[in-house]
Amino acid sequence: MAARSGHGHAVAGVKLNLPVYLNGQLLPREQACLPITDRGLLFGDSVYEVIPVFSGAAFCLQQHLDRLQRSLDAIGLPNPLSRSAWLEAIASLYQPGEASDLAIYVQVTRGAYPTRAHRIPQETNPNVIAFASPLPARDPDRANRGLRAITQADIRWHRCDIKSTNLLPNVLAQSEAQHQQAEDVIFIRDGRAMEGTSSNLFIVLDGLLLTPPKSGEILPGITRELVLDLARDAAIAHAEAAIDVTELERAEEIWLTSSTREIVSVVQLNGKPVGEGKPGPHWQRMDQLYQAAKERNRIKALSGKVE
Ligand code: PMP
Repeated sequence: MAARSGHGHAVAGVKLNLPVYLNGQLLPREQACLPITDRGLLFGDSVYEVIPVFSGAAFCLQQHLDRLQRSLDAIGLPNPLSRSAWLEAIASLYQPGEASDLAIYVQVTRGAYPTRAHRIPQETNPNVIAFASPLPARDPDRANRGLRAITQADIRWHRCDIKSTNLLPNVLAQSEAQHQQAEDVIFIRDGRAMEGTSSNLFIVLDGLLLTPPKSGEILPGITRELVLDLARDAAIAHAEAAIDVTELERAEEIWLTSSTREIVSVVQLNGKPVGEGKPGPHWQRMDQLYQAAKERNRIKALSGKVE
């Protein structure tokens, strides 16, 4: 059971030195250690989630825990915690209603064993870690500026639907983006645009909102699903369909979506302006719908109707 304890010092509105969760205990970060033979470290044999907490209200928490379950099932690792234990562990990492936004990282590894062997041990001994990090508050000016992206060949495996910690291609792609004065990479596989390094892809083409369908080539993003729901509810024409690189290049709008970055507009692709080179009207609309969904979630959480 996770005890609620000190929540660190507040510096300029941002909490530092937050305790971390390790296998049922809340500990100061420097005391939370795992053995060097942990399979997450040796083999990337682990899965994770990142759950945003906006204004003290966890957002889409059940959907994140459902996806964690699917990732665990996909790697054959029994879930070490019940749903209520997950909720308790996550709740121990933030104060409901606190003003600043947070990202809660959770990871389950297959655990540590005496010898390093690829074969999965019969008896699993998973490790669970979780910690909160400050999330920069949404900056409307920044959102309205959008970001620059480049395209790059997708060198990842074919189970990108598993949210595993094998993120080296994503890390290297992100570095290349930085090298080319861009903020993100859109992965291209077999002439099709897939997703960003840590985000899903939407485009507006001839007025139609498009996103690649779920498959082993992309992570089924929680924000992606929410955007599709919001589009459906607002009767915005949309479809889940493969996006050819030529369609990406002539899109009126390009967006990247993720739990921590929300919906960001790509205003430049490979050095060329997207549409008019600024976030477009479809993005403005969807961003408003998304911000309204966050606000509804906050009010629901405040009134005690936590999921
Ligand atoms: N694709 C990848 C590869 C990601 O790492 C992420 C971020 N977790 C996403 C998409 C977006 O997923 P979500 O909306 O659930 O954050």
